[in-house]
Amino acid sequence: MSSPNILEMRGIDKAFSGIRVLKRANFELRSGEVHALMGGNGAGKSTLMKILTGVYAKDGGDVLIEGEETHFATPNDAERAGIAMIFQEFSLVPTLTVAENMFLNREPRAGRGAFVRDAEARRRAQAIMTDLGENIDVRTPVEQLSVGMCQMVEIAKALSKNARILVMDEPTSSLSTEETTTLFKLMERLKANGISIVYISHRMAEIFAVCDRVTVLRDGESVLTEDCRGLTMQRLVDAMLGAGAGAALEWQPRHHELGSKPMLQVEDISLKGHFEQVSFEVFPGEIVGLAGLMGAGRTEIAETIFGIRRADSGRVLMDGAPVVGNESAIEAGVSLVPENRRTQGLVLDHSLRDNVMLPNLKAFTNGLFVNDSAGAKTADEFIKSLRIKTDGPGSIARLLSGGNQQKIVLAKWLARNPKLLILDEPTIGVDIGSKSDIVEIVRRLAAKGTAVLVISSEFEELLALSDRLIVIHDGRLINELDRRAIDSEEVLHH
Ligand code: ADP
Ligand code: MG
Repeated sequence: MSSPNILEMRGIDKAFSGIRVLKRANFELRSGEVHALMGGNGAGKSTLMKILTGVYAKDGGDVLIEGEETHFATPNDAERAGIAMIFQEFSLVPTLTVAENMFLNREPRAGRGAFVRDAEARRRAQAIMTDLGENIDVRTPVEQLSVGMCQMVEIAKALSKNARILVMDEPTSSLSTEETTTLFKLMERLKANGISIVYISHRMAEIFAVCDRVTVLRDGESVLTEDCRGLTMQRLVDAMLGAGAGAALEWQPRHHELGSKPMLQVEDISLKGHFEQVSFEVFPGEIVGLAGLMGAGRTEIAETIFGIRRADSGRVLMDGAPVVGNESAIEAGVSLVPENRRTQGLVLDHSLRDNVMLPNLKAFTNGLFVNDSAGAKTADEFIKSLRIKTDGPGSIARLLSGGNQQKIVLAKWLARNPKLLILDEPTIGVDIGSKSDIVEIVRRLAAKGTAVLVISSEFEELLALSDRLIVIHDGRLINELDRRAIDSEEVLHH
């Protein structure tokens, strides 16, 4: 029986601890096709592919390879059937060479002695690399390779096992632009050799550049499968978010009154090498955007307001009173959600509850004892109000997707009811669904009277959020613009 589909997944169900993450999901792959699997963080993309590759067992549904019902109990089973997955975290051993990594645990059996086997492994590894058009000595230890090269080695390793179906899970998330281009070229060549590719990504532009078809998962359901040709960006966004949800990213005029006295006053602050004579104010209920290019000094200004950097001159006032140092800033009601949330914002190996309680221990302590259940209750409230996708407050932060981790960092600081909330790149690395959630949350806070200062390299986001924009260039404040009077070209010009 011949089927145009090399792979069909029908009605796949999967739950983790009682939470359904795949709901009768369907996916099909034609021979020699690049098929994009898209969807927001936590939509179930990785899980669906891990079911295909024998990492997870499915609760229900069928997997057919070339029309035959199949079941893989382990990744090795799947590999034997010609299916390989390149994971987001690589599985290479850094101290071993490229050739050793490719033939790890399955050195060619051609010769009798170890010496002959090594030579044979090297020869075959080199041949595959040359086929891929990669000019690399397979005797190089993997630890000396760039991320892009490591990915090539992973792909070469899969091909050395005669993979016919290759699953790539967000392969470009840590690649440079050049490495991404190289990868796309390689994908073209693989395709020409009849290899079918599942390409997981949430970057729209890539999909249109390399894929033939796209399937969108939303909350564990497959909501769209279509040819990329003829598919519009808008249709794709609507499928990922549910129709109409994209509207949150458009600017909405403010309906509430601002406070009469400024909450934050920055007076003529300078920090050598970072910024010079910067002054501005933020009023209660107002959202002010700090615009500028990367490295313009915006993060340093935020950190100075938060008191973790000390200005050489000038001063910062909250509610009319000077703030000196971090403790005094926190005391005065300043919260900073940092740019690098993985290293600064979260204790990744701790539970969500611990992460929300950590900066707020006073509120959760009765005398000497930490009140875990109050912490869990607060964490639970935030999980609901911020729509964080998780099993519950006891889950470990590391297991969440980027968008959901960012929401936890927000929760942690919102638990303090800040008077001034500073957000440094709040939606970087976050999928579009979480992005509009975060924009909504910030708007609600401002409507309740919180003063907000947002730093973002995405003009669209700044324009969507800000009542007022302050443009920083080379550490100097060069312009201040009222949102009602600007359009995006004007800001780009500045
Ligand atoms: P995506 O790849 O689309 O971002 P995932 O498939 O990784 O989404 O996750 C789907 C959902 O399943 C998420 O809510 C995630 O937290 C949950 N999940 C994934 N793997 C596990 C696991 N091993 N244990 C518990 N929950 C998990
Ligand atoms: Mg994933």
